[in-house]
Amino acid sequence: MGKENLEFFLWMKEVLGVSEVFLGERYEVRDKRSLLEAIRRQVFQCRKCPLYRTKTNYVFGDGNPDAGLMLVGEAPGRDEDLQGIPFVGRAGKLLTELLEEAGLDREKDVYIANVLKCRPPGNRDPKPDEIAACSPYLDAQIRIIKPRVLGALGRYSGHFLSGQNLPLSSLRGRVLQSIYGIKLVVTYHPAAILRNPNLIDRSRKDFELMLKLLRE
Ligand code: SF4
Repeated sequence: MGKENLEFFLWMKEVLGVSEVFLGERYEVRDKRSLLEAIRRQVFQCRKCPLYRTKTNYVFGDGNPDAGLMLVGEAPGRDEDLQGIPFVGRAGKLLTELLEEAGLDREKDVYIANVLKCRPPGNRDPKPDEIAACSPYLDAQIRIIKPRVLGALGRYSGHFLSGQNLPLSSLRGRVLQSIYGIKLVVTYHPAAILRNPNLIDRSRKDFELMLKLLRE
């Protein structure tokens, strides 16, 4: 087992309590699905913050683990909570359209997850202690998927992935270095665009920037 894999295994065991994943000599990125499944099982029994009591479903993630682009939202909304899938409903439909306009297939080219895996009641903003409790799961997803480009959808995921607590207007529209050392583009959450359609042209430019980075 290589040093990097051993460290990752120990981290999964200590931080997430995942002990059943065997990372043997042959562990490579092709084991992404089984690693993600181990994390998903941990999430589905998580009680690390009070949100497990009010959620309907845990929302783990969706898409192609081999995709070059990983999009990260803030937290499940009502439709996501009901279906257990990220970015469904009107905001999800808009996201799919924005991806298609940029030439990206949502099923094939993207993996999508949220910082929080449970819906905050009434779609209120995530609290710092909830983000602290839940973010190791996202951390694991990113370390397993190893995307070439990260896209943050909304302020909270932008703050988390960039490590900078700047207004979204200062973070978006440019290429940032994420805390994972992966290139990052921050843009608006599709729900914000539904509330303020004037944001859509800026969002389109951000998705074009993600595509440009993927092609580099
Ligand atoms: S939001 Fe995250 S940390 Fe809180 S209960 Fe759900 S999965 Fe666990």
